[in-house]
Amino acid sequence: MIALYHCQYITMQTAYISHSLCLKHDMGAHHPECPERIHAIEDQLIASGLLDYLQRHDAPEATRDQLLRVHEESYIDLIESSVPQRGMVQLDGDTAMNPFSCKAALRAAGAVVLGVDLVMAGKTESAFCNIRPPGHHAERARAMGFCIFNNIAVGAAHALAQHGLQRVAIADFDVHHGNGTENIFYNEPRVMLCSTFQHPFYPYCGTDSGNDHIINVPLAAGSGGEEFRTAVTQRWLPALERFQPELVLISAGFDAHRDDDMSMLRLVEADYAWVTGELKHIAGKYARGRIVSALEGGYELPALGRSVLAHLKALSGL
Ligand SMILES: [Zn+2]
Repeated sequence: MIALYHCQYITMQTAYISHSLCLKHDMGAHHPECPERIHAIEDQLIASGLLDYLQRHDAPEATRDQLLRVHEESYIDLIESSVPQRGMVQLDGDTAMNPFSCKAALRAAGAVVLGVDLVMAGKTESAFCNIRPPGHHAERARAMGFCIFNNIAVGAAHALAQHGLQRVAIADFDVHHGNGTENIFYNEPRVMLCSTFQHPFYPYCGTDSGNDHIINVPLAAGSGGEEFRTAVTQRWLPALERFQPELVLISAGFDAHRDDDMSMLRLVEADYAWVTGELKHIAGKYARGRIVSALEGGYELPALGRSVLAHLKALSGL
């Protein structure tokens, strides 16, 4: 009985994947996408005691073959050859690289790959990747919006190619539309993207997806938990029930929080716990519980830490 309990406990664990290089990518003193975000999350997980119960892993680097599933080779070459010896180079108006950024981006994408491998092997039921740079704005051949490689897309493509899955769902509740993820999987019906985002707002697209595996739900400025939950209940969940995903990935951005100055949505910790629970229900029904969540946005540090804690409590069931 004790052995059985022990076995179940181990397999039900949630993995926590990060890497010290994610702290070394730095886009300047006043940039909101800052290394302190990683600490703000970790501090909350330590203070709550939750971190002790998570299975901790260092993220490996994503390989070139893993990146090539979603990015153009010329784009990967450009990123690698643009790394500065010192100082910073701008990739777009608000995305820059310092000497550590490329290595951090490789670890961020590799974290999601490891998360997919862990849940597919049954070593954990779910995984959370505390990583930066974020990824969901990165298109096949373009860095933008603080993103270099599209971490969640690299993970989804890995699940298709390496694990032979036929249906992978990505849920994206970041306040910004995941234009990069949509760009990469627009013609890939094996991947369903369910997204809520403030609109009109950066990156000013996504209202009309034009196909039935991209479920975009724009929300007006000022929307709160009620509008968000209605969107998820009426649009995401029926689509996910139809799709029956074998794996659920989450682009977990927390910049729709009411305390976050980045946006004008008004979500709170309970909304993040709720949507995580709904996705867990879908994963439990169709995907043997397999969920891999990766950090995207979230810039108001105390709210970010509290929101990730709520998300991870729901994800892990602890
Ligand atoms: Zn965002």
